[in-house]
Amino acid sequence: MQYDVVIAGGGMTGAMLAFALQSQCSRKLKIAIVEKQSEAQIKAPSQSFDSRSIALSAASVDLLASWGLWPELAPHACPISHISVSDRGHIGKVKLNASDFNRQSLGQVIEIERIGEALYQRLAQLPASQISWYRPDQILKINQSVDCQQLQLASGTVLETKLLALCEGGDSPTRVLAGIGCQVQDYQQTALIANIGIACDHQHKAFERFTASGPLALLPLTRQRYSLVWTLNADDAARLMASPSDEFLTELQQAFGYRAGVLQSVGERVIYPLSLKTAVQAASHRLVLCGNSLHNLHPIAGQGFNLALRDLAALLNLVEQHADVGCYNLTKSYANLRQQDMQQVVSLTDGLVRLFSNDSKLIALGRTLGLTLLDNCPQLKTAFAKQTMGLSPQHRQLQQLSMLKES
Ligand SMILES: Cc1cc2nc3c(=O)[nH]c(=O)nc-3n(C[C@H](O)[C@H](O)[C@H](O)COP(=O)(O)OP(=O)(O)OC[C@H]3O[C@@H](n4cnc5c(N)ncnc54)[C@H](O)[C@@H]3O)c2cc1C
Repeated sequence: MQYDVVIAGGGMTGAMLAFALQSQCSRKLKIAIVEKQSEAQIKAPSQSFDSRSIALSAASVDLLASWGLWPELAPHACPISHISVSDRGHIGKVKLNASDFNRQSLGQVIEIERIGEALYQRLAQLPASQISWYRPDQILKINQSVDCQQLQLASGTVLETKLLALCEGGDSPTRVLAGIGCQVQDYQQTALIANIGIACDHQHKAFERFTASGPLALLPLTRQRYSLVWTLNADDAARLMASPSDEFLTELQQAFGYRAGVLQSVGERVIYPLSLKTAVQAASHRLVLCGNSLHNLHPIAGQGFNLALRDLAALLNLVEQHADVGCYNLTKSYANLRQQDMQQVVSLTDGLVRLFSNDSKLIALGRTLGLTLLDNCPQLKTAFAKQTMGLSPQHRQLQQLSMLKES
């Protein structure tokens, strides 16, 4: 059982990594995925491919297009043409229009189960010599040697690999086995998500509204629906989970106002407790961390999976540059590349959570001034839009990768 890459966790990040390596690498790699759950279990609420929708930045869409996956996803995705950021009860607001930045869209919104379907279908088409699944299974023990990692699975199977990629989500047990620490900060907030049916055309507008209970996002979805992400305290989230649909919609309409028109119906509701979890290092001996195993963020700015895609793009590029996919130079370069991007996105999202979950009058005034300044200063607005669209971080990473290639 010898592999080039063993991926622990076959969810959004792990399955995408397997797909990207197999579809983009110039040489054929032998890959195994160890996944804790069966394929049916992974689609249950609060699991990797559940009914959640996510906003993919323009840069992520470009990346998925370059990997050849976008044609399958595009029919299920809804473009975002405008973003409106506002603070309930205060006048400050920011408006972004795709046309101001010569783009057709600022990003796209898609249900993640659609991404799961497309990925699993592509992986199922690969020959057994290129991909093996171990599921339901998990790693119980790691034995390190200079040129490989030996992994003992719960089923008794033993695998050897040149590189182990941890994609097990925020609570990665193998991260603990590998002795990699993780900093955790509980936000004491809960995200309630649901799809919302509306009375009129959403015109591809996305809204991020800061309310007394926390940020509330409505993202445009296909078939004239909105995807709701509502940040609440745990008690309100539990109450709203249990409330009848009409009461839920009345409360949501009150909290959000009528900017998105009349909110008519609500689908299945799911809640996620929110915390920030960041691994203290992105790599160690023949091991890399990707996606939520490396950075589990608050969904306030919709950055988690976009950041994960940049993890994968960096890894893919480095695998192309090195004959030994787990060598020291590769893991060290990966750690350096990902640390900076991760720190920036963590600071941005964590800063937003703190700034917009505070009802002090002084902070509210600062928010109004900040949003007004952002909306009226073209240079600031362009920099903000490029970060939101993922264009600046992706550009920076490509530059750093090409410098590494030349050196
Ligand atoms: C409410 C909400 C809204 C969001 N909105 C956005 C957005 O708009 N834009 C955006 O970019 N991101 C968004 N995100 C973040 C995005 O959903 C995550 O970044 C992404 O789902 C992470 O995927 P992952 O595969 O890294 O982790 P997970 O989805 O947690 O998957 C981990 C996988 O590993 C498996 N596993 C766990 N332990 C083991 C083990 N010991 N052995 C083997 N397998 C194991 C699990 O079964 C699972 O399949 C949002 C998140 C939330 C909660």
